[in-house]
Amino acid sequence: IEEPEKFRIEYWELEEAKLRRMPAPKPLATRVALVTGGGSGIGRAIAHRLAAEGACVVVADRDAESAATVAGELGGPDTAVPVTVDVTSEEQVDAALRESVLAFGGVDLVVNNAGISLSKPLLETTAEDWDRQHSIMARGSFLTSRAAARVLTAQGMGGDIVYIASKNGVVAGPDNIAYGAAKADQSHQVRLLAAELGAHGIRVNGINPDGVVRGSGIFAGGWGAQRAAVYGVEEEKLGEFYAGRTLLKREVLPEHVANAVFALTGGDLTHTTGAHLPVDAGVAAAFLR
Ligand code: NAD
Repeated sequence: IEEPEKFRIEYWELEEAKLRRMPAPKPLATRVALVTGGGSGIGRAIAHRLAAEGACVVVADRDAESAATVAGELGGPDTAVPVTVDVTSEEQVDAALRESVLAFGGVDLVVNNAGISLSKPLLETTAEDWDRQHSIMARGSFLTSRAAARVLTAQGMGGDIVYIASKNGVVAGPDNIAYGAAKADQSHQVRLLAAELGAHGIRVNGINPDGVVRGSGIFAGGWGAQRAAVYGVEEEKLGEFYAGRTLLKREVLPEHVANAVFALTGGDLTHTTGAHLPVDAGVAAAFLR
């Protein structure tokens, strides 16, 4: 049947209409957030900040005990639940998203924060180191984002995916091939997924911290000693060392990274996607020594 001219919808008219229908980001107080690696360090600080803003939080961690502890700190099952998940496992990641939906009726915000560091010089880095580093950070965040995108697109109400990437994925830190390359992979996932999911109102952004020593399980678990040796400082002085090389001469704490998650997802940055926000007190911006 010939379509009468007056009923014909031009492509651009439809696109504009879709944009009008696109949901504005919801206030955090009405949101459900899932934080991987939420049982420690930066992830714990993010979980605390999102809960303080009124979000319901799923604390997802490989370490069941720490996930339960943090969920308890946030006030119990009405506001936070722990989920045990190894982000390298497709089944466990999909199950974690399912558990979140069952606990709180949906998911609006997912933070890819789980990570380890196997930073070593190239000649000491084994194929197993490379695979393990990439399976947790590159594969783990891919699996988490994919499971999140399934829920977010089905809900049709937009949403946020945030990657805790790193300065080390942008500039070349010393003796950092496996970790730095895995972080660079995460950073490109941010751009690729921002492009693919933007039309659904889903924003995908990254945060690039640096030198968050205090509270970090990664630093306490061997990375601190390794970095101290690389920089020729005592391990106890590492926080001070990192602060001293920043432009602001300030130590970066887990709370500062959590503030950035809030700025990107709960503040006014409604039209920011595919971006990376440094939380490094200025290290990546200038070469001082
Ligand atoms: P952390 O060790 O305190 O926290 C990492 C958490 O991830 C832990 O709770 C750990 O159990 C969890 N985890 C590890 N492997 C997992 C897996 N396979 N599945 C699920 N959970 C897993 O370390 P952090 O310093 O808070 O680091 C958090 C994130 O921030 C990491 O991605 C790290 O690379 C990134 N980052 C940290 C710094 C820093 O200076 N500390 C700088 C840049 C980026």
